[in-house]
Amino acid sequence: SKTVQQAEKMSQEFRQSSSTPLPLLHQVADALVQEMYAGLASEGGSDQLKMLPTYVENLPSGSEKGLFYAVDLGGTNFRVLRVELGGKTGQILSQEFKEVVIPPELMVGTGKDLFDFIAGTLASFVDTEDESIKAHFVQSGKTRESGFAFSFPVRQTSVKSGIVIHWTKGFKVDDAVGKDIVKQFQDAISRSNHQIMISALVNDTVGTLAGGRFNFDEETMIGCIIGTGTNACYVERADAVHKWDEPLPKSGEMVINMEWGNFRSPYLPRTFADETVDKDSVNPGDQWFEKMISGMYLGEIVRLVLARMAKEAELFGGNVPVKLLERLTLGTPHVSKIHLDNSPDLDVVAKVLKDVFEIETTTLEERKIVHEVCDIMGERGGRLAAAGLYGILKKIGRTGKSRNGSKKKTVIAMDGGLFEHHVRYRSYMEEALQELMGSDAAYEVALRLQNDGSGIGAALLAASHSHFK
Ligand code: ADP
Ligand code: MG
Repeated sequence: SKTVQQAEKMSQEFRQSSSTPLPLLHQVADALVQEMYAGLASEGGSDQLKMLPTYVENLPSGSEKGLFYAVDLGGTNFRVLRVELGGKTGQILSQEFKEVVIPPELMVGTGKDLFDFIAGTLASFVDTEDESIKAHFVQSGKTRESGFAFSFPVRQTSVKSGIVIHWTKGFKVDDAVGKDIVKQFQDAISRSNHQIMISALVNDTVGTLAGGRFNFDEETMIGCIIGTGTNACYVERADAVHKWDEPLPKSGEMVINMEWGNFRSPYLPRTFADETVDKDSVNPGDQWFEKMISGMYLGEIVRLVLARMAKEAELFGGNVPVKLLERLTLGTPHVSKIHLDNSPDLDVVAKVLKDVFEIETTTLEERKIVHEVCDIMGERGGRLAAAGLYGILKKIGRTGKSRNGSKKKTVIAMDGGLFEHHVRYRSYMEEALQELMGSDAAYEVALRLQNDGSGIGAALLAASHSHFK
């Protein structure tokens, strides 16, 4: 029919304005590299990328041994973990964890209340130890040690101290900003009458990188998370961090937390939906890259496009479904569900449209258009994420052509719900990365899912920075 044709035309235009051909991806990657240099040159050298030195100079070797705790605070759920490391390459003898929802009022309350809650949860988890573990700590006279995975921007002052720069992802604990986050946590642990030492403060991407090193390969150079938000860290040459004015680490290396979600570039193919998402967000003008590729926004972008098609091309008939005009009704898991539907009648698409937007009946043509919009956005997100990773690889000299056909290896440790569950997004990302590297590349690059990377990685880094080594 005429209206479907009009919607198809809009969808084609939308594909055009969201497209990410290879030359554009190279431009995006190059723009990122330029910002990386600026951010490493001086404090505030880039107004986009913080390029934070993490004080992690030694990543786990696999020989770490003993029982360590970790606390992982970074989204609405927070986790405490107990991990027993075997001391042989990549061996984890046992692990247990407990996941707790942070009460919403604590997310916007005082630092004392938040940390008393977190310390209390850790303390009662420690109390559930087996007798044999308790006896071990009594006999050895060692204090229990924990890593702290904290996925908010922090200016670290050592591997176990750092100042919160600002909160993200719905947290707003104003009195904790500008103060040492580990001291606040450590004080709360004291108030709980337990002795637990925080030995490492770790961004979640750094935990993922550490976990990747421990599990897979010493060629793991990047840790990247694509979940609710997105961020990446990588192993940099310490002497390339020009703003670093402390003694150079012995290893000659320094892990840099990029805070890459705030990257922006005129090459990013933005649409009206991106403008709207940004304008309606809690942080307009910030985190452009994050808003285009991560899970917190993908569903909303798709909804905005469908709403425009319903209004301007009468997709779904003459009346615009009310739910389609409501903010945040479509979640990113819905988008991946639609995208993964390859049934001939697109039955899953029909069901999502019914469940989410209360659209009772749809034609196959309409469902095809909905599927198409999810494909366009998934493709754009995955390919832009790949361009970001390619930029990092370029910065550390792991791109270029192979002279004699032999390839060296680089591993990228990945985590985050969007990367883990949205299989099509992930394959777009992988394909684009291979495209960017080229068929005659000097390096073979692999993306590896490092599940629960941040928590286990924090425990590993507590081990490699243990006071009792
Ligand atoms: P966080 O980023 O909050 O630490 P996760 O890494 O678990 O937590 O990521 C959760 C995010 O992953 C969700 O906000 C959602 O956007 C995305 N996600 C979860 N499940 C799916 C799914 N099935 N398909 C696509 N995206 C998903
Ligand atoms: Mg997380």
